[in-house]
Amino acid sequence: MEIRRLSDELKRTYGQKIYRLSLSSGCTCPNRDGTVGYGGCSFCSMGGSGEFAAPLLPPEEQIRLAKERVRGKMPSGMPEEDWRFIAYYQAFTNTYGDPERLKALYSETLRQKEICILDLGTRPDCLGPEIMDMLRELNQIKPVWVELGLQTVHERTAERINRGYGLSVFEEAWRNLKDSGLTGIVHVILGLPGESADDMVETCRYLAALDPPPDGIKLQLLHVLEGTSLAEEYRREPFPIMPLEEYADVLIRCLKVLPEETVIHRITGDGPKRLLIAPKWSGDKKRVLNYLNQRIREA
Ligand code: SF4
Repeated sequence: MEIRRLSDELKRTYGQKIYRLSLSSGCTCPNRDGTVGYGGCSFCSMGGSGEFAAPLLPPEEQIRLAKERVRGKMPSGMPEEDWRFIAYYQAFTNTYGDPERLKALYSETLRQKEICILDLGTRPDCLGPEIMDMLRELNQIKPVWVELGLQTVHERTAERINRGYGLSVFEEAWRNLKDSGLTGIVHVILGLPGESADDMVETCRYLAALDPPPDGIKLQLLHVLEGTSLAEEYRREPFPIMPLEEYADVLIRCLKVLPEETVIHRITGDGPKRLLIAPKWSGDKKRVLNYLNQRIREA
């Protein structure tokens, strides 16, 4: 099967390869500071699911440092002034904070000429009217992507992983985002405790039926990471972890139910190896990606 991959879409739109720079907004998360809950989502590590982000510095400086980190990946013949990037604020909840401060930070980010997209990881319960106004304004300057960590549509799983909001909150946020012309990307985790393959496919079926469906999706393998409450749960009462072959099976089933227009941002996860407890096979990222891509081609 053919899938619509993010890298191809970006190349089509910008005529060149676009890389991500991981940046920090200094935001915390309402599911950690007690506003919604304590302890965070059970799978979330202390880095707020963004282990590769930069320390909190002015955007220009963060971008300069992040560029140094990706320098080795850049096409050798391309002059530095032609490099283009997605400014990716991934860790914690990047619309949770004083809207004025955030507006200044993100406007400054978008002023940098090498940045062509602003990409914010957040929660659907952190998109109030002031934040939505800010996002709409920023989206007039350059495209703004909003990434929502839904993970599952099943309320019993959402409770078990301590997600801290119900599906109706996601649905309202989705309507607002799309009515505002923003690009919406949804995160789904495959392999959450207590979920069958059919449950995971059902989450994707639900997303496919949204009007409009997600602009992009990240299908991520569940990682059990050191220091998370999921790790404690796993040690206390180990739940089944999918072998690679089974992950590929369910991934392909999910890809098959998603609409053609949804761009596939990810087909597995990107957890820090030093914290990885399970599945161990996911540590060999190259082998995993090769295998998954081969299975997708054959599907
Ligand atoms: S909402 Fe995001 S940052 Fe907050 S606890 Fe959950 S995964 Fe971590």
